[in-house]
Amino acid sequence: MATNLSLLLSIILLLLVIQPIKGHSFKSLQHLEGSHKGQTVKGLHEIKHYLSAFGYLKLDNSIGLSNDHASVKDKDEFDEHLEHAIKSFQKNFHLNVTGRLDSSTLDVMMTPRCGVSDIDNMSPNYAFFPGKPKWGKKYLTYTFNSSVTHEVLDKLSFAMQTGSEEWHKHTQFTFARGRPSSTSDISIGIMHMDGPGKVTARAGPPTFPIMLFDPDENWSINDKPNANQLDMVSAATHEIGHILGLEHSTDVNAVMYPFLGYGMTKRELSHDDIDGMFALYGKP
Ligand SMILES: [Zn+2]
Repeated sequence: MATNLSLLLSIILLLLVIQPIKGHSFKSLQHLEGSHKGQTVKGLHEIKHYLSAFGYLKLDNSIGLSNDHASVKDKDEFDEHLEHAIKSFQKNFHLNVTGRLDSSTLDVMMTPRCGVSDIDNMSPNYAFFPGKPKWGKKYLTYTFNSSVTHEVLDKLSFAMQTGSEEWHKHTQFTFARGRPSSTSDISIGIMHMDGPGKVTARAGPPTFPIMLFDPDENWSINDKPNANQLDMVSAATHEIGHILGLEHSTDVNAVMYPFLGYGMTKRELSHDDIDGMFALYGKP
């Protein structure tokens, strides 16, 4: 039986692997539109935090940001490192590679997304975690840990069942929900991340098979979520992909694309998701 201590340690490990960006509201980025290299604009450090959290900017190389004693001016300076990071982000998501904070780039940045870091200069589409970790078995069990409240459990159960069936349909993997408190391959929980929007869920690779959902989101499991709701089935399907070993894809049609806006669903695997699984595990 997994103890609460081992669960806590696992979550800490997961959070060490996946950098959180708590406390930074994506909606506050709009006023930075038009910013470019050479400028100092109040609030640019928010962009640096964002790009650092998702793997595009190394803080040590960014003047001042990692230094608590650095002046606000330095932290808000649009330097060449920031321009390079923005270009990488734009390239990954098929935006015009301008290095400027144009409106389309900010629109993508403000879209609710998975909390797992992207890989800088991702391959054309699907990608894997460093070292390409994968499962050595094809039958996986999952359980909901003690953090999952009754209010969320029904939605989460449906989302996991529907999402895992989609992966089963296209791959060799079979999923089953384990008995409560039993040992399982995948642990699923809830964790307050950063309030509504922004980061909505996250999961670890096969070596850290933990999946977490932000209970502050306005989750839906309906086929057609309302315009102010996020689809938990789509989110679960995406996070299962991480658990199986897929990183983020740059293919906007892929389940493993990191962004999914309000009112949208993406519950069916794309060719890119399936190709990624075949590349990692071989064809069934
Ligand atoms: Zn993700």
